Amino acid sequence: MGPSEPTAADVAAARQQLGERPIAFDIDGTLVRLEPGEVAAFGRAFSSVFGVVPVLRSWEELPVVTDRGIVITLCAQTLGRVPTVAELDAVADAHVGGVEEMLAHDPAAFSAIRGARRALVALAARGPVGLATGNSRVTARRKLAAAGLDDLDLPLACSQDGEDRESILRHCAGQLGVPVGALISVGDGTWDVTAARALSLPFLGVAPTVRRAERLRAAGALSLVEDLASPWSALAAAQVPAPAPAG
Ligand SMILES: [Mg+2]
Repeated sequence: MGPSEPTAADVAAARQQLGERPIAFDIDGTLVRLEPGEVAAFGRAFSSVFGVVPVLRSWEELPVVTDRGIVITLCAQTLGRVPTVAELDAVADAHVGGVEEMLAHDPAAFSAIRGARRALVALAARGPVGLATGNSRVTARRKLAAAGLDDLDLPLACSQDGEDRESILRHCAGQLGVPVGALISVGDGTWDVTAARALSLPFLGVAPTVRRAERLRAAGALSLVEDLASPWSALAAAQVPAPAPAG
């Protein structure tokens, strides 16, 4: 592991490769490690508010993977109705409680992806950088703190700012004061690939495992890295995802 703060050479390389191009980073799996136990924790947060246990095995099986989108889907499936704003907020509060429990059990949970801090600091030194996550605001902040990234104070677009990934990316661009079409999007989910394609954004996938790389490629991602150690040239070369293969 190298030092977590960038060198002057990192900033110079980032600037040389990317100029001032604005970049939007997803959080889960992109900057902060995925915790497999979080799916079950989210299910528990849902049942603590609605009194029913949802069938929730993986994020991939959901049509809209944002915290609010997930609650809306599970509410329709289990209760046949739309959640109220108060219920959405209650699930967010319960879920951040679940994240706290996971951290109490394992203080290394939600640690940073290799190179994440160094990349964010270097990139923010040369142009606009924002965070665009499907997490609720409290959950996103808690995970950033766990990963040691909360002090960077980057603009944060989250689940409260849009119902789907595209809306959250649009909100992120607005926070950065740039047109959404100017963004380079960095993410790890097939839904990030889909959103980038819908908005015609260059997309860089973060895929630490062969399995994730295959999944992102199958979704149309053309540009992938294993981690965020020196991602400058990969970001500059990132391409808009290809059309999704049929089937
Ligand atoms: Mg993610």
